[in-house]
Amino acid sequence: MTNFKYDSFDIVEVAEKCGIYFHPIQRNDVELKALCPFCSDTKYHLGLNRQKDRFNCFKCKAKGNSVSLFAQMHGISNKEAYTILKNEQGTLETKTLYFRVDEETPIRSIEERHDIYYEFLSLLRLNRNHLMNLENRGLNFGHIHQFMYRSIPTDNVFRREVLEALASKYNMVGIPGFWYDDKGDLQMFYKKLGGIFIPVCDKDGYIQGLQMRLDVPPGSDEKKFRWFSSKHFKDGTGARSWIHVVGDTTAREACLTEGAMKADVTSVLSDGRLFIAVPGVNAIEYLPNTLRELGITKVYEAFDLDKRSKPEVKQALITLRNTLSDMGVECVSCSWNPKYKGMDDYILAKTMSMQQVPLAA
Ligand SMILES: [Zn+2]
Repeated sequence: MTNFKYDSFDIVEVAEKCGIYFHPIQRNDVELKALCPFCSDTKYHLGLNRQKDRFNCFKCKAKGNSVSLFAQMHGISNKEAYTILKNEQGTLETKTLYFRVDEETPIRSIEERHDIYYEFLSLLRLNRNHLMNLENRGLNFGHIHQFMYRSIPTDNVFRREVLEALASKYNMVGIPGFWYDDKGDLQMFYKKLGGIFIPVCDKDGYIQGLQMRLDVPPGSDEKKFRWFSSKHFKDGTGARSWIHVVGDTTAREACLTEGAMKADVTSVLSDGRLFIAVPGVNAIEYLPNTLRELGITKVYEAFDLDKRSKPEVKQALITLRNTLSDMGVECVSCSWNPKYKGMDDYILAKTMSMQQVPLAA
């Protein structure tokens, strides 16, 4: 029996041969972003890893290596693709690709970020539609004020005023979401769609960063939740996978959910219970540290029921359970009436029906 090892090809060169279009700005030379040729991708969902010789589309889930990429693009077998690539290797001069590789500006301390985000939010307003949206989730005016939810400023004049007020008071370098343009003017990441800024706070109430809940029209494939980040801008800084903490931080048992707003709402609806929110089921990098700092011994996992059946979420939940188990933290999966997708929807419905009892009597 012979062990046969494929020669490996540079997946980026292969992708270029296939006419795949790369994002003009790349974070580094190893992991690159490109437009996925297998789906109607317009937002660079295709990730290529040179070191691992892998490609992976986050939208259509297409994946493979340099050989299978070439094969799929040309409708031929992997063996045929290998032969072609092998023959071309060394004879065909492949163009060297040049990307602008961005060095990330170091992020500022939590205290500095908190002060600046606090001031930023204080300068912003909450429009009527967003206020109504939040009230419909079960929050009252006091909670909305306390959580500092604000509307993303879509008005150009107002946004400029806010940016100038910040720039006159603070050095904004290293604050995710902001950057200085070539003229030296402060700019911020925003979406014309508009939406709500959601502060993501640590256990002491410091604002670590901001999430945006965008007013995405139904049926759009735009992501509803985004970090307020300036990762892809010159001298900009990216957000991290910050963990949000809300409610009674003296408790040793916490509910774990996805998304800061969901955590805020569910905590309020359950009389200030301790909620910990990860930004995504897969984004648990900072979770162990937060659990340790809070001294958590038991976690009630309360991710949306509709998500739990998705294969990629199932895998993420296994990883999460293993992480908790390694830390000696007990983990219990919460369940509720599956008519309600999220625990917040369920508790809200329950609260509403309880309030209706005296009315009916
Ligand atoms: Zn794709």
